[in-house]
Amino acid sequence: MRVLIIGAGILGSSAAYHLAAQGIEVEIVDEAHQGKATMAGAGIVCPWATKVEEPEWYKLYEAGTRFYDGLISGLKARGETDLGYGKVGALVVAEDRAEFDAAAERVARRTKNAPEAGEIRHLTPAEARALFPPLREDFDAIHIPGAARVDARLLSAAMVRAAVSMGAKFRSDYVTLKTDGDRARCLDSTGKEIAADQIIVTAGAWASQILRPLGLDHPVVPQKGQIVHLRLPGVATAKWPVVLPMSSHYMLAFDDSRVVIGATRENNSGFDYRVTAAGELEVLSAGLKIAPGLANATLIETRIGFRPAGETMNPILGRVPGFSNLTLGNGLGAGGLTIGPFAGSQIAKIAIGQTTDIPLDLYAPKAS
Ligand code: FAD
Repeated sequence: MRVLIIGAGILGSSAAYHLAAQGIEVEIVDEAHQGKATMAGAGIVCPWATKVEEPEWYKLYEAGTRFYDGLISGLKARGETDLGYGKVGALVVAEDRAEFDAAAERVARRTKNAPEAGEIRHLTPAEARALFPPLREDFDAIHIPGAARVDARLLSAAMVRAAVSMGAKFRSDYVTLKTDGDRARCLDSTGKEIAADQIIVTAGAWASQILRPLGLDHPVVPQKGQIVHLRLPGVATAKWPVVLPMSSHYMLAFDDSRVVIGATRENNSGFDYRVTAAGELEVLSAGLKIAPGLANATLIETRIGFRPAGETMNPILGRVPGFSNLTLGNGLGAGGLTIGPFAGSQIAKIAIGQTTDIPLDLYAPKAS
């Protein structure tokens, strides 16, 4: 069987890796659009503190987190070491005491049966600042040692590389789909057909565009995120925890003295690939309020990503009704770097007719 995957973000690269590992013939095609979400995403993997209480979404959010350990060890076993993944822990903080207490209750409830979260501890402001020095001086924190951060640029590149090393083919191109009876056919940018028995569409915020010629009215739109990268020259930030202030903003650090503050959530943004004054102001104000010690950091870049946002929070994963050869993975929204590797492995199974690890019927694409 030959499987064609359209889109090599976190979802498509995971699907490719898991198919190639089973010896399936795979081709991945990717246009690398400006604003590809996987290239901009922050990379927080910590389901336990979220305020979101959607049970079906949370189930995948948690399953995605659990999936990481096996994925990382599998990639390392194949010689992939540059994965950008670290279990650095998280500090949950809040300006408001009631908000902090509510977060403490949520974390305790959710981690009761999640040993991978590690031992949850309440830290004094001094203990919290010992872990994340720029933090405000008056913040108590809840410490979740099992939280992780991932540089999804590195991780998805590693999954594609591993897939290619197992025989997958990668091509940079913009492709389109057309209908042929109950089948979808894929054409490259010169109009030539790319042969495939099964097609998986993991086209992120661009999925609606590629599905439209098939007569499908797909409910996913771009939600723009602007995310600011700072550098603290000479400071070893690699082990700093993620900071979750219980708002839509947050902070995390990477190996190269880099601290990231995220992010705007701009609905109705279209594909507006611009750093805006208001976006920069929003993110920096929120970040410096929580971590004033970052005031003198160097602003090195602002990344822009388009989250694939559906009508509900739930991802859309499964076979497309009306087509015998089309599987869709989409709508991961703001949780895609957490859910994506697991979801990618599952849509790979769906495309080749295997049973998924957990029931996914609820997330199946609707007929349109
Ligand atoms: P994408 O990564 O967008 O990939 C889609 C790919 O399909 C693109 O490369 C595109 O070029 C390609 N494509 C589309 N159409 C075609 C075509 N016709 N031909 C060829 N190629 C095509 N998630 C978390 O879990 N934790 C976080 O901390 C987090 N932070 C985030 C912060 C920001 C600022 C943003 C924007 C997102 C964040 N996310 C986070 C969410 C996460 O990044 C996304 O949900 C996830 O990356 C979506 O992955 P994807 O593979 O579906 O899409």
